[in-house]
Amino acid sequence: MATLIELKDVTKEFNGQVVLRGIDLEIEQNEFVTFLGPSGCGKTTTLRIIGGFESPSNGSVLFDGKDIVDLPAHKRPTNTVFQRYALFPHLDVYENVAFGLRVKERNNEQKIEIAQLQKEYQQEVKTLKNNFSKAKLELKSLGLEKANLNTKELELKNELNKKIEVLNQTKTQKIEHLKKTFLTKKDFEQLIQNKVNKYLKMVGLEGYENRLIHKLSGGQQQRVAIARALINEPKVLLLDEPLAALDLKLRQEMQYELKEIQRNAGITFIFVTHDQEEALTMSDKVVVMNHGEIQQIGTPEDIYNEPANKFVASFIGESNIISGIMKDDYLVNFDNKDYVCVDKGFARNEEVDVVIRPEDIDIVTFGQGKINGIVDSIVFKGVHWEIDVKTENRIYTIHTTDHVELGTKVDLDFNPEDIHVMEVW
Ligand code: ATP
Repeated sequence: MATLIELKDVTKEFNGQVVLRGIDLEIEQNEFVTFLGPSGCGKTTTLRIIGGFESPSNGSVLFDGKDIVDLPAHKRPTNTVFQRYALFPHLDVYENVAFGLRVKERNNEQKIEIAQLQKEYQQEVKTLKNNFSKAKLELKSLGLEKANLNTKELELKNELNKKIEVLNQTKTQKIEHLKKTFLTKKDFEQLIQNKVNKYLKMVGLEGYENRLIHKLSGGQQQRVAIARALINEPKVLLLDEPLAALDLKLRQEMQYELKEIQRNAGITFIFVTHDQEEALTMSDKVVVMNHGEIQQIGTPEDIYNEPANKFVASFIGESNIISGIMKDDYLVNFDNKDYVCVDKGFARNEEVDVVIRPEDIDIVTFGQGKINGIVDSIVFKGVHWEIDVKTENRIYTIHTTDHVELGTKVDLDFNPEDIHVMEVW
């Protein structure tokens, strides 16, 4: 896959307050990327910098290898779906979606190009005339006889007119060529209709063309907003917590649908959320942020199974996080006991964080596991029980489908590969 967007050492300050600190990030074509992190960590600011609604205090933003920092939002190959969808309540679904195309005036691109050609032509004529004036002055300084001077001046004038004529012809040909690509009003309406149909179908709203916005559910309104953003066929769609206003069930449905829409549209989606489940469900790549810094970039599996630090481990899923000391390669000590692990490369006696996921701990018969404890609380969570076991040094949280009685003496057991050792950040 090719890199589409690159952020290089991007920082952002608001009134002296640093909110982004050296963001380095690469986003590939056709990726579903999620910025995940707690409120205020800088997710939206990063998205707004990519969309051109905010400029970085330092650093660069590249699109297809070109710096786009000075490019205004409407000229970027991006489009945005906001949390509040900003739909027009007085227009129906069709016109709301068509709006994305209508705002781009018919034949606007050609008109811009024609204006540019006219400007270039005038510039070149001006240069030719300046050169002509200079050449005339030079002639005069030669002290030629009057008749001879007049002839030479006439030659120069003819040469100038010929050059202007050639320029004019070339410009006129180019403009005629562009005008041939103009769409008539009828063709433009047909184009809009084809595209509205295509994108309403993509978001599952075929047949809703004539519905008014306030007669749609929240999820349907969300889909209209997405279709309207897609109709301009941006290379990147930016989505800022677009599901936040929906209830849980609808939000879960929309998570699958959004992924499907992204696949069908074949473009890059950059999605902001503080909901880890949402991020894990939809993303090809998750960018975990905290305090204006990227903590980890990886696939959902990477960040869940191999969290880079204590913050990621605690933010993604639940974790038992314990301070430890690395005794040797493959040997870590915590709670005054050595445990075999699969990690190496740390300094001897280096302080580390140890993470063990609740679902990786087994409750076994007392005396047959690694740590003794007593069942301290039990909460039924639907698919599993969440059980707290109190040991000498701490309380471990365990997720299990086996039922145990409150107050039972038990042992805890886990495998070396389920002990995740990480640097202290
Ligand atoms: P949330 O999930 O709450 O939207 P976020 O991770 O998207 O949070 P940002 O909206 O990027 O965070 O904000 C990061 C920090 O920058 C916050 O402290 C916020 O108050 C501050 N901030 C954002 N925009 C501005 C602004 N225009 N002026 C001043 N401070 C701002």
